[in-house]
Amino acid sequence: MSARTLLAVPITRATPPLAEQVRAAQQAGADLIELRVDCIGDVDAVADLLARPHALPFILTVRSSAEGGAWDAGEAERIALIARLGLAQPGYVDVELAAWDRSASVRREIGLVAGSGGQAGPPSRLILSHHDPHGTPGDLDAVFDRVCATPADVVKVVFTARDATDGWRILAQLQHHSRGRPVIALAMGDAGLLTRILAARFGGFLTFAALEHGAESAPGQLTVRELIEHYRWRDIGPDTRVYGVVGWPVAHSRSPLVHNAAMSAEQIDGVYVPMPVAPDYRDFAAFMDYVAGRPELGIAGLSVTIPHKEHALRWLTERGFSISDLARRAGAVNTFTRTAPAAWAGDNTDIAGAIAALDAVLAADPDPLRDRQVAVLGAGGAARAVTVGVLDRGGRVTVFNRTPQRAQVLAHELRCAWKPWEQRVGTDADVVVNCTSVGMHPGEGASPLAPEVLQPGQVVFDAVYNPPQTRLLRDARRCGCRVVSGVDMFIGQAAAQFRLWHARCAPTATMRSALTPGERG
Ligand code: NAP
Repeated sequence: MSARTLLAVPITRATPPLAEQVRAAQQAGADLIELRVDCIGDVDAVADLLARPHALPFILTVRSSAEGGAWDAGEAERIALIARLGLAQPGYVDVELAAWDRSASVRREIGLVAGSGGQAGPPSRLILSHHDPHGTPGDLDAVFDRVCATPADVVKVVFTARDATDGWRILAQLQHHSRGRPVIALAMGDAGLLTRILAARFGGFLTFAALEHGAESAPGQLTVRELIEHYRWRDIGPDTRVYGVVGWPVAHSRSPLVHNAAMSAEQIDGVYVPMPVAPDYRDFAAFMDYVAGRPELGIAGLSVTIPHKEHALRWLTERGFSISDLARRAGAVNTFTRTAPAAWAGDNTDIAGAIAALDAVLAADPDPLRDRQVAVLGAGGAARAVTVGVLDRGGRVTVFNRTPQRAQVLAHELRCAWKPWEQRVGTDADVVVNCTSVGMHPGEGASPLAPEVLQPGQVVFDAVYNPPQTRLLRDARRCGCRVVSGVDMFIGQAAAQFRLWHARCAPTATMRSALTPGERG
């Protein structure tokens, strides 16, 4: 279907008064209102609302508990209630396919108030729906074929996504079936978020978004404001290119805010969404194989975060795709770019981000890192990126890590020095970089170095960006050190991804204010 995808706001509570909630939803941008009578409870208030003139159509829903709803009285009463409220001509009436299939009397009762009966038929349109609160079945073809064979005006299928692969499988079905008829295909849970945002990209009849947190009608629903302001809902269409962050978990990632704000500022037809993929390599490879083999899904680039950066390198290597030299040396890929319908390239923009952040503070020097002594605290992904970048610019690195074996392996692979963690306190390096998670939210009170060991003039760089001002950076400033924040590295790596994907300079000021709205540059 080529019509614009509608935004439906569910009403799930009796207070504030229903008419007030409808007005608020309309002002927020709703095209449709779903009245979840099973959650609202106050049937008289619903009947009263339906009896009044209304500017927006309603979807009348009394969801059964078997399909995730709150209705716990009898089935016959439920159908009778739908039929009674349906007489008020809400616009749409939603009935579960299971109930519809089960009984001829349900079909007769509901058929009196909703269905595509032509001019003489009932005035409301019939939505036949199927909800799976437990998972997403392996054979989606069978479910979609079954619902699409019904006489419904609109078919609705909602599953629970285990990870982003399920979300993409549902979207692929939506893309296929929405060409012929109005289809709603969504997934619940954090992993289903992409289906709610990308419904507009793949021709969905509607998506749902709540008026506010706490008013959701299903797990994983965004608010209308988040959908419109953070995820560019009004700009998404069939040609929109899709980007996203692959990790586990990714619900709290700030990357969607940063990349969506940047694309919006540059008027790029793109949207960036979270794609949670379970931690094993097998899950990651299954996800990548699924999306890489389907260029019609429109995925143009992916950020990769914990725990998949090493998996990304392995997948690209096994599939024979190209990998930048620096990413290969760091042993990690944090950026995928689709370079042709069947080709991907891997890069590590954490390296560029770290070096750009250091360059900015050492700018006076024409070759700022050459022969500088750099102490890297930590031996994880961030430490590898910083070490590769510094070595590449002629600096000398010593790695200090809590687990000495990891420091030793890193130093051996990247050809630099290492020392036991305890010896970090005696370092007189020109530059100290914290690449451990010490000081990261929720452990804001901690610092990997006591203030006494910091020296005036030293450069102190904290890769931690949440919070933007860490205890280490505050201590360093007090000691007269020059400081580099993890926010600079984060913006630097996102800006490098932006350049790779969009072949133009990134609007870094916009990105920064999206990442840290309260901070001054
Ligand atoms: P990672 O691979 O999990 O490595 C974590 C490192 O922290 C390890 O070296 C670990 O030591 C060390 N560590 C953890 N707790 C410690 C403690 N209590 N005392 C001493 N060392 C401790 O994580 P990562 O990806 O490298 O990330 C590290 C930090 O950098 C995170 O805060 C992350 O948000 C940040 N980061 C920032 C950016 C950016 O763009 N600004 C990019 C990437 C990462 P062991 O080996 O002994 O466990």
